[in-house]
Amino acid sequence: MIRITKSQPAPAPLTTRGAKHLLKLRATQVADPAACRVPGNKLLESRDGIYNDALVKARLLSDQHRKCCYCESRPTSVSYGDVEHFRPKGGYQQVRGGTLHKPGYYWLAYAWDNLYFACHLCNQEFKGNYFPLRNPTKRAACHTDSLAQEQPLLIDPATEDPARYLTFRQDAIAPKRASRRGKACIEAFGLARPELINRRIEHLKRLTHARIIGALDLSLPLSATASQFLRDARLSLAEGQALVADARRIWQEAALDAAEFAGMVRANFPHLPTV
Ligand SMILES: [Zn+2]
Repeated sequence: MIRITKSQPAPAPLTTRGAKHLLKLRATQVADPAACRVPGNKLLESRDGIYNDALVKARLLSDQHRKCCYCESRPTSVSYGDVEHFRPKGGYQQVRGGTLHKPGYYWLAYAWDNLYFACHLCNQEFKGNYFPLRNPTKRAACHTDSLAQEQPLLIDPATEDPARYLTFRQDAIAPKRASRRGKACIEAFGLARPELINRRIEHLKRLTHARIIGALDLSLPLSATASQFLRDARLSLAEGQALVADARRIWQEAALDAAEFAGMVRANFPHLPTV
């Protein structure tokens, strides 16, 4: 996870169709608050056609450099991502796998601040409707309650820097200084799942290769080592120089916001540029 900057203003579908439907949701809640609390009721259901609108998804993808807001991997052609509600819109769980409480944060269904792009695994297989608070009695229960009194255990990447709570040693993620919030994020988003660890290991290997290749000096006159490298790799001088330039670029850009797994790279190589 790294900090995410949301572009402004909010995408039009949220402020037009979303704002209009929100008025209906508020009126429904005010008319019968008790009915909205009944388990399984669908009175405050939001319209996925609004927050899933192509314009909304495109903005999230652009703001997040096409990376999942939680695991920082880039969903591929075989694994699409979702528009994710940080505070769950339909119902919430204080305990993972526990009771689904109603209503959810229905008034944030179209709130730009509450939306992210997340990979299928982080969003659906792990986080789902889980949204624990340090003190559950402070939870906002409807649109007139204040969110300011809530102390979420999960880190909101647009308002907080995840690096304060999470760190890495090589591919292994860990809570920083035994942070409770860091631990909660690792569990809630599945940030230590085996397939993700394997991808981080592969990423670090590629970076090591880039660092080694990038350190080669292929300027003229060629050293004996450089000549030997070109012969072994069966490369012309121009091809070798292009390879080295590419490797140096990959290494220098590895900790930028746009780079995959930038949070892990920053924790392991703090001297690399981040902007
Ligand atoms: Zn993810």
